[in-house]
Amino acid sequence: MKLVLVPPSVTREFYRRARRAFPIEIYGILIGGMSEDGKTARIVDIYYPPEQYDRPSPDAVHVEYSWFTPAAAVAEGLGLEILGDIHSHCYDEELEFEPGLDPSEDDWDWQNRIRRDTGGQYQFMGIVRVLKKKDRRLHCSTRFWPAVELPITAPWPKPSTSKRRVRNSSRSSGRRGGSAGRI
Ligand SMILES: [Zn+2]
Repeated sequence: MKLVLVPPSVTREFYRRARRAFPIEIYGILIGGMSEDGKTARIVDIYYPPEQYDRPSPDAVHVEYSWFTPAAAVAEGLGLEILGDIHSHCYDEELEFEPGLDPSEDDWDWQNRIRRDTGGQYQFMGIVRVLKKKDRRLHCSTRFWPAVELPITAPWPKPSTSKRRVRNSSRSSGRRGGSAGRI
């Protein structure tokens, strides 16, 4: 069990961007540090790769490995490290049945690959559910998932590109979470 702490201002900024982009997903790289005992992660900032807006798609975030280079520079400048990433899942309450906060199969596949490539520094995957309610408002909630090692069965994509599809997972109901939660 690890505790992930996110300042309200950082959460608000992600939610603001996620609502503005809806129904397009947005993506950010988590910058922060771990406590000495390794039990608590403090997220200090989120790096938003500007390139993600070049090819918007409602079905996927097209993550480039190169996005991690400037993010690592930001982290290093703060004396911190990259702890993982976070992205939104967009749902319309009238179209979806019990949309949850679970990563898709491709999300797990992605975190497994990037974790391997970053030497295990990648530790958390954040999912922000943006749910369009019947009153047309967009409600956001967050859950963090620990990185896990999984057998990689699919062939590697091109080194510079990883395509993540998010619409192929079964949707189960996740617990509602705040910006901090035990995982
Ligand atoms: Zn996803």
